[in-house]
Amino acid sequence: MAKVIFSFDDKSAKKLKNKKNILGGKGANLGEMGRLGLPVPPGFTITTEVCDLFYKNKKKLPRKVLQNIESELKNIEKKTQKKFGDLKNPLLVSVRSGARISMPGMMDTILNLGLNDRTVESLKKRTSNGRFAKDSYRRFIQMYSNVVLGVEGHLFEELIDNYKLTKGVLLDTDLDESDWDGLIINFKELVKKEKKINFPQDVKEQLLGAINAVFLSWDSQRAKTYRKLNQIPDHWGTAVNVQAMVFGNMGDDCSTGVAFTRNPSTGENSFFGEFLINAQGEDVVAGTRTPQYITKKAKKDSGSKDPSMEEAMPKVYKELAKVFLKLERHYKDMQDIEFTVENNKLWMLQTRSGKRTAKAAIKIAVDMVREKLISKKEAIKRIDPNTLDTLLHPTLDEKVEKEVIASGLPASPGAASGKVVFTADEAEKLNGMMQDTILVRLETSPEDIHGMHAAKGILTARGGMTSHAAVVARGMGRPCVSGSSEITIDYELKQFKAGDVIIKEGDIITIDGGSGKVMKGLVPTVQPEISGYFSTIMKWADKFRKLKVRTNAETEVDSKTAREFGAEGIGLCRTEHMFFDEERILSVRQMILSKSKEDRNSALDKLQPHQKEDFKKIFKVMSGLPVTVRLLDPPLHEFLPKADKDIDEVARSLNLSAKEIKDRIAELHEENPMLGHRGCRLGISFPEIYEMQCRAIFEAIVELKKQKVKAAFVEIMIPLVSTESELKILRALVNKIAKEIEKENKLKLEYMVGTMIELPRAALQAKSISKHADFFSFGTNDLTQTTFGISRDDSGKFLNDYIDNKIFDVDPFVSIDQNGVGELVEIASSRGRKTNKNIKLGICGEHGGDPKSIEFCSRTGLNYVSCSPFRVPVARLAAAQAELSK
Ligand code: PEP
Ligand code: MG
Repeated sequence: MAKVIFSFDDKSAKKLKNKKNILGGKGANLGEMGRLGLPVPPGFTITTEVCDLFYKNKKKLPRKVLQNIESELKNIEKKTQKKFGDLKNPLLVSVRSGARISMPGMMDTILNLGLNDRTVESLKKRTSNGRFAKDSYRRFIQMYSNVVLGVEGHLFEELIDNYKLTKGVLLDTDLDESDWDGLIINFKELVKKEKKINFPQDVKEQLLGAINAVFLSWDSQRAKTYRKLNQIPDHWGTAVNVQAMVFGNMGDDCSTGVAFTRNPSTGENSFFGEFLINAQGEDVVAGTRTPQYITKKAKKDSGSKDPSMEEAMPKVYKELAKVFLKLERHYKDMQDIEFTVENNKLWMLQTRSGKRTAKAAIKIAVDMVREKLISKKEAIKRIDPNTLDTLLHPTLDEKVEKEVIASGLPASPGAASGKVVFTADEAEKLNGMMQDTILVRLETSPEDIHGMHAAKGILTARGGMTSHAAVVARGMGRPCVSGSSEITIDYELKQFKAGDVIIKEGDIITIDGGSGKVMKGLVPTVQPEISGYFSTIMKWADKFRKLKVRTNAETEVDSKTAREFGAEGIGLCRTEHMFFDEERILSVRQMILSKSKEDRNSALDKLQPHQKEDFKKIFKVMSGLPVTVRLLDPPLHEFLPKADKDIDEVARSLNLSAKEIKDRIAELHEENPMLGHRGCRLGISFPEIYEMQCRAIFEAIVELKKQKVKAAFVEIMIPLVSTESELKILRALVNKIAKEIEKENKLKLEYMVGTMIELPRAALQAKSISKHADFFSFGTNDLTQTTFGISRDDSGKFLNDYIDNKIFDVDPFVSIDQNGVGELVEIASSRGRKTNKNIKLGICGEHGGDPKSIEFCSRTGLNYVSCSPFRVPVARLAAAQAELSK
């Protein structure tokens, strides 16, 4: 049998390969502290392997383990100069679980073990504190009887409550030694009545009972449920730690506390924590007494009157400060620590890497590189790219209470509050009056764009993570909760219902697009500030990454924002989004609804100058960088007028009757618009639309050239291609227009033509399609939709069921389905490169901003990812991490 027990100062544990797997997190760290020579109460860890043996051995500890426990116990006795069960100087121990990763509150712990009717008297004598001794004993009886013997905990609490009632007091602290004496008798009687046994007085029996119980608690229902929820394998097992007890509640030269080696919320390099004099660990967390600060500085900063530990226990504080530094040097990370001071002697009870905010994570990582504790590579690996969102958008003030009334999909991060409005016009009107609004819609469509822009946030009842609302909001950096099926909107009554709560137009709500929560009333938010530390970590990330990071943007403002965030060009300029403006949408509708080519051309003539001006602005912002312009790809239904006033307006402009327009709309009606007359199919049917767009693009470049402005490098992209012929025809169209413009202006245009790969057939046919493509850009929104056959607009209704049933781990519209959709990306990449070895490969679906998908893109050998402006920093960091993990 391999070594199954390690004392905390056992040097041989150093050689263990996967220390945490064998000793559990707690045991590994206690041992590590022990070997560093830090003051850890003596003790030992029974390994997780024993947990396995225990279950294989009919839930009994093997004999060899029992012998080892005996000898390790002797070691503790020697080190503490106390004896287990001794009447003069009894040793008390704690027995705690400790899995590989912390499972807070899931498994059992027993404190003060070793107390019985006789040792409690010697504890009283040694501490000259009868109340403390009896209180410790009754706590032990309660814990042990509950955990090991299975007596229900509330029965003990009831006995205490009745006792207090009879005595006429309210608090446990009002009970004195003789009260506890009486209760101890009652407790023991209760055990006898419930379990027909006497409460065990044999301390060894107590110890084995407790160790067994901790191993058994690995299999408790709550631990099993926790493991299932957190994907922790059953076979990991738990370790058990047996450790000499130390007491922070034996008098005023005792204390207990929790601390971080740096400030976990700001990252500031100063100790941060709380302690309480004459108290036990649970008193610090329970909130019954107000803890005091550790350092003088923290006390001063908070305006607290109570002395800090630095002042109240200066000698121990100095020692603690040294321990903090030693631990940080050793672990090379900020530590979260528990300690106890017993009669002015410091004891370390726990250390582990501390949880921290994104802001603190960045500052700590950068500081630690400067302090030469870690490398730049390590600093980059330590930051979770997803948490950067909280640094770029306002977040909810954590300290404030919130009334959550509904939830939906976290479609676009950030928090916002405002008056509820149900129309885009109302949002715009109130914005003009400097009032904040939240635009609430069943779903959004292009005609809502001005309202989405004017509103502070968007809430929709329908639609998934790649629905119109989600995609547009992310692009604009507006917080958005989409697909909240928990709300019922009544446009007529101008209200929505969430459970029993009715929210009327003008009522204030708050949405958190990072969590998907909808709250009643105004919840204050905290504004982000981008620090120098943030730029430093970004610069370091850029050095290591190979994937380029572009943005999805179609306005000057978004392009600027993205460039400031470090975008290296535009990977997707959705030209249909450039038509959303109220003035233009009428021309777009004319273009779509016109019956004749002439009418269509007259609409196109009106649109062209707008397109050209927009392109000029974008090409200027992205000067010298690549910009992929996608030719029109409107899901038609998003553009058709719905309201009578809009229908009348188009009718008037086309000199047709409203009825004729309605008939035309009916003619254009599609059962599945996402699979309908969109993308390049539109370009095939109405080449004049794509011709107009190409003219606008090339003329924009020519005009910038004439103004001596360095323009962006244009890549023209044909959407929704599934056959070689589509691309061949449309590439010829682009070249034809380019030639015309070159001739008109007597100059040479440089550009590329490529296609989106967003249909399975296109991916499979990449070999032939790539003959006509300078680049492929994976449109993984549509590719996911068409590979699964799941509508990106309707998936919200049932995706949760798929996640609950573990069919999906995550929404495949958020993180790429690496097995299925990913395989198509791999196939298309390799087949495309076979034909055209220089083909440029990128991704522009929403997955381009998701760290896991970015890691996949990096592995697959894509050249760039493209994502919404606010995801650019996330993608830069994730791309560096992907490279470093290779
Ligand atoms: C896609 O399908 O992934 C894509 C980027 O295009 P859109 O979202 O505009 O359909
Ligand atoms: Mg698409």
